[in-house]
Amino acid sequence: MSTYLDHAATTPMTPAAREAMVEQMARTGNASSLHAAGRRARRVVEESREQIATALGARPSEIVFTSGGTEADNLAVIGSLRAARAADPHRRRLVVSAVEHHAVLDAADHAVEHEGAEATFVVPGECGTIQPDAVRTAIESDAASVGLVSVMWANNEVGTVQDVAALAAIAHEHGVAFHTDAVQAAGHLSVDFTASGVDLMSISAHKLGGPVGIGALVAKRDARLVALSHGGGQERGIRSGTLDVSAIRAFAVALTEAVEQRESESQRIGALRDRFLAGTQTLDLGIRISGCWEPGDVTTRLPGNAHITIPGCEGDSMLYLLDAADVAVSTGSACQAGIPQPSHVVLAMGRSEEEARGSLRVSFGWTSTEADVDAVLAALPDAVVRARRASGAA
Ligand code: PLP
Repeated sequence: MSTYLDHAATTPMTPAAREAMVEQMARTGNASSLHAAGRRARRVVEESREQIATALGARPSEIVFTSGGTEADNLAVIGSLRAARAADPHRRRLVVSAVEHHAVLDAADHAVEHEGAEATFVVPGECGTIQPDAVRTAIESDAASVGLVSVMWANNEVGTVQDVAALAAIAHEHGVAFHTDAVQAAGHLSVDFTASGVDLMSISAHKLGGPVGIGALVAKRDARLVALSHGGGQERGIRSGTLDVSAIRAFAVALTEAVEQRESESQRIGALRDRFLAGTQTLDLGIRISGCWEPGDVTTRLPGNAHITIPGCEGDSMLYLLDAADVAVSTGSACQAGIPQPSHVVLAMGRSEEEARGSLRVSFGWTSTEADVDAVLAALPDAVVRARRASGAA
């Protein structure tokens, strides 16, 4: 039986979300249409919006549906910077953490290359933590030039959870909006949009048991955003495009379920992660754990995230060797898979290029069991021997 341990890339849809989606797909109606079928679709969208808002501690009017995390991040970074510059042309600088997902980093690069923006990247400490003082220093080097600060809630590679409330407060001291990419956090950590004080927050359904292709940018009513897509004026005119009613329905079902079960699931999944990480240390393979790990800690590191580096092994070789043993893991962000590059996150944490190439992410989710942990631990020694042989290290 195959062992799927790549839940941070995408986690299976839950049966309830799947059922809700299929049921809704059998119904016709554009949520913008005025006839009865359209109004029925609209009702489903608005009820789902309310459920999603409740699960995230936000108001329904703050939920802007998007096609997922990537679009939400692009809208937040590029759309806010354009709006900030429209209000004050000096505000053309982005302050962004160096460990962001490429959806944020490449959006920032785009703004620099094509829109005359500047970007300051904040480097983390050894655990991947972005220190509030580092964000303050980056802003205060020229506070009047900052248009947006963006730091993710939890890192997709090494699982480090940031103190976004503290970071948002620093941005606000300078009158700057704060965005957080909470794609890996929502449904897995306690995420309360209003309490966190952030202005903009990206989420994605397929990381928490919903379908691929739907997500949201949670945006305070007074957040300034310039739309990136133009057309029918849906979603407060911020994001035009016909709404995917069945995906939205399934998103709401999955998120509600994830939030309801979060406390017990995070303990259960955290225990699987701990069993795996502790197991790697008994294998005598020189495996090093990335980020900070405290057994039982499910708040400062994502409960489902394990990230290891294996000396003398290319991460890609390990991935394929484990795949041949029917164990699915990742070398880092799935979006980079296929392009063998050292992980920018591991590099930013001060580790060597060799370590950044030899890293492996093993991520647990709602379908994971102890048998999965035991299967990956059993497959590791042989894969390591072969990977070392392939790289000439053994
Ligand atoms: N942000 C983070 C932290 C992610 O992990 C991902 C997906 O891997 C994304 C953004 C992109 O989300 P989506 O796949 O919904 O576009």
